[in-house]
Amino acid sequence: MDARSLLTENAKLKKENEDLRNRIPCSRNQLKAIRGCGKALVIKTLGPQDSEPYRKYSRSMFSCLWYKYKLQFSLNSITETKEHQVDEGLAFINKYEIPQRFLYLKPAPLCHLCDEKPGTVPADDVLICDDCYGFFL
Ligand SMILES: [Zn+2]
Repeated sequence: MDARSLLTENAKLKKENEDLRNRIPCSRNQLKAIRGCGKALVIKTLGPQDSEPYRKYSRSMFSCLWYKYKLQFSLNSITETKEHQVDEGLAFINKYEIPQRFLYLKPAPLCHLCDEKPGTVPADDVLICDDCYGFFL
């Protein structure tokens, strides 16, 4: 085989390999990891699932996130993620720039001592409420 046909052959193989890669879907566990990663980000941004911001805005934040994800990887659904896209997909979610409107909605953490009022005063590496703080003064 001459050099030129070797190059043509090489290009053909590359193309075939690419096509094959694009036909291998990610596994169920990989899809679970991708979904879990998205959910962790939403919880980190909006608060726990039983919090008001989560109940109010999680649907909207999920749809923004998955919209960008599908756009990035040219997919119609996240379930179409290919095996070779999984690592990049997870990295994409971790680097996702959270839309401004979803920031600062997360409820304040509760007081470390009474677990009832919002913790506002830093004490060592935890937050306590004004009342508890007053109690210790
Ligand atoms: Zn307290």
